Amino acid sequence: MSFIVAIDGPAGTGKGTIASLVSKKFGFLNVDTGAMFRCVTLEIIRRKIELHEIEKIEELLNKIEISFKEESNGQRVFLNGEDVSTEIRTKQITDIISEVSKIPQVRGRLLELQRDLAKGQSIVMEGRDIGTVVFPNADVKIYLDASAEERTRRRIRQNEEKGIKMSYEEVLESVIKRDKIDSEREIAPLRKADDAILVDGTNMSIDECADVVYKIIEEKM
Ligand code: C5P
Repeated sequence: MSFIVAIDGPAGTGKGTIASLVSKKFGFLNVDTGAMFRCVTLEIIRRKIELHEIEKIEELLNKIEISFKEESNGQRVFLNGEDVSTEIRTKQITDIISEVSKIPQVRGRLLELQRDLAKGQSIVMEGRDIGTVVFPNADVKIYLDASAEERTRRRIRQNEEKGIKMSYEEVLESVIKRDKIDSEREIAPLRKADDAILVDGTNMSIDECADVVYKIIEEKM
């Protein structure tokens, strides 16, 4: 029997780290849906497509192939066979991604791909609409939250590890702006599912947060 864990929440709450730890502990496939939206955004930029050119975007979506591979240096993301793990995290992508993820055709195609990935295997999937739209019947739904200030500090630390330099104000502004667009969009907005368990990680370390999530999963299994 396959088991589905959905983790949603705003930017910078540590969803990716928690999903990766859950995947290792329980042997579940780890799917970072934000990375999928980032791949589409990268391809749009590379092909110099404007966001209103829907036919061109549809054509791109018909051909897109996204896959994940666990490697010693973490999870790698492949777009049409090319490792784009670093390239999809740049500011250029983050600046426009919330506009790309509003496009119904983009959400529709990624929804199909996300559901396909879960066929016949246990997964932990993280994003914004996993518990509400992608897997409304997920076995476990977690909504991970933290204050905007704490999320900003975490993003800055992550950025530093990746060699990306941005000021506190710049990151805070970007986090707040992205959350606003993500939670106010018409299709599949960022929202806690009614039956999701809220985990507020503001005053918790990643390990403490992971322990809370492990317990929730173990109780359900
Ligand atoms: O999780 P990450 O910060 O990489 O997500 C990047 C963006 O992708 C989000 O700000 C949101 O606009 C979009 N996204 C989404 N639905 C998901 C996952 C991500 O709209 N399930």
